[in-house]
Amino acid sequence: MSERPVSYEDVTGTLRERATEALGDEQLRTNLRASAGSWAAGRKRMDEQYPFQEMREKGREIRTRAVAELPQLLDQLEENLTATGGVVYRAADAAAACRYVVELAQREGADLVAKSKSMATEEIKLNEALEEAGLRVVETDLGEWIIQLAGQHPSHIVAPAVHLNREEVADLFEQESGGPVENEREALVAHARQRLREVFATAQIGVSGVNLAVAESGTICVVENEGNGRLVTALPRIHVAVMGMERIVGSWEDAAHILELLPMAAIGDDAAGYVNLITGPRRPDETDGPEQFHLVIVDGGRSALRGGPFEEILNCIRCGACLYACPMWKSVGGQAYGSPYSGPIGAVLTPVLEGPHASSAGQLPHFSSLCGACHEACPVGIPIHDLLVKARGQATEQRPRSERVGMWLWSRLWSNPVAYGIGRRLARAGARVLGRRGWIERLPGPAGAWTSQRDVPTTWPPKPPSS
Ligand code: SF4
Repeated sequence: MSERPVSYEDVTGTLRERATEALGDEQLRTNLRASAGSWAAGRKRMDEQYPFQEMREKGREIRTRAVAELPQLLDQLEENLTATGGVVYRAADAAAACRYVVELAQREGADLVAKSKSMATEEIKLNEALEEAGLRVVETDLGEWIIQLAGQHPSHIVAPAVHLNREEVADLFEQESGGPVENEREALVAHARQRLREVFATAQIGVSGVNLAVAESGTICVVENEGNGRLVTALPRIHVAVMGMERIVGSWEDAAHILELLPMAAIGDDAAGYVNLITGPRRPDETDGPEQFHLVIVDGGRSALRGGPFEEILNCIRCGACLYACPMWKSVGGQAYGSPYSGPIGAVLTPVLEGPHASSAGQLPHFSSLCGACHEACPVGIPIHDLLVKARGQATEQRPRSERVGMWLWSRLWSNPVAYGIGRRLARAGARVLGRRGWIERLPGPAGAWTSQRDVPTTWPPKPPSS
């Protein structure tokens, strides 16, 4: 099993180094292929059963309208939720969001937090903040618990432990429990259920994400497949839900459509196991539910995206389909990206939210073949490949002046017919010197990086490689 850092700050090496290491991990690639293959089969079934293109257009219209009306929708959500007895906190950034939850936990004397799956908490690094404050945090989604035990971060938005196989999971469970664990699916699930039961029963705080908030009623929707989300949001005395500010729609009519699209795109199925609809804390006549309900709405750079070139990324419903469709993600998995969000969505979102200087953020937009498979897979039609090109442009603007001047000169040369003709003649002469039987196996200098993974044909169409 690959060793991964517990904190993103500890991510080592460049994106290229991490990707190269992942490419050499046969087990990882087998696991990724199996998972992406099963998603593709489910997705094909959905495409055959449903008018996916029409549904996608409607999904895009709903999300675009919601982002356009975001300030009003957030006000409406807050007003309706507060009327039910819930507390809404709007956090300008990750630090403010974490501070709010940590202070709440300390004020309430909590020492154990049960969590259900949430990319927003991964983004703001809530686990790290709570643990630093001395709290014990336990992930209760099976995949999240597995990677928590492994000291890793999610490999995929909806399938966090997709890079691990059953043997690897059984090893982790044995290390955690100190006893033997069979590497059969049922045995592994039963083991997790038994170990996590006590956490559900004793945690004072349950933390969940939010798939969608509905402004007109002040409701949050938590979609999941295991039932742990229902326990996390109903059993502990306090429920804290954390959402990115864009995860909202105005009406139940809009919510119904997005909640229909989500499992189709995410897991290739027409329904998720559980859709939890939560509107504030427990009422006096209700038998379960938390005494306190807090909704933390995180901006974290999102409001700055509105009206700009990357606004459409706010339409994302975090289904993870673009990851499974992406040839890059399918080859190296999510951990090589070194950021909470991986795959095509991560390659756009990370640099625009964190800035191109953060970790490998500036390199991420280049980590794509621009094939457009992500756009095809996206249930709300986000033109991710176009956004990647824009993000590349932004990252290039940050490059040293000498490099930018070099690229400008290069572009001028190749746009000039005379220079282009000379370049072609030089390339042909070089190919005659370096090529053997129609192929160049090694280019000199920095160009050698290109031939380290592939041969270059000296003619077009290429000659078949000789055996
Ligand atoms: S960009 Fe589209 S496909 Fe990718 S996670 Fe977001 S909604 Fe899903």
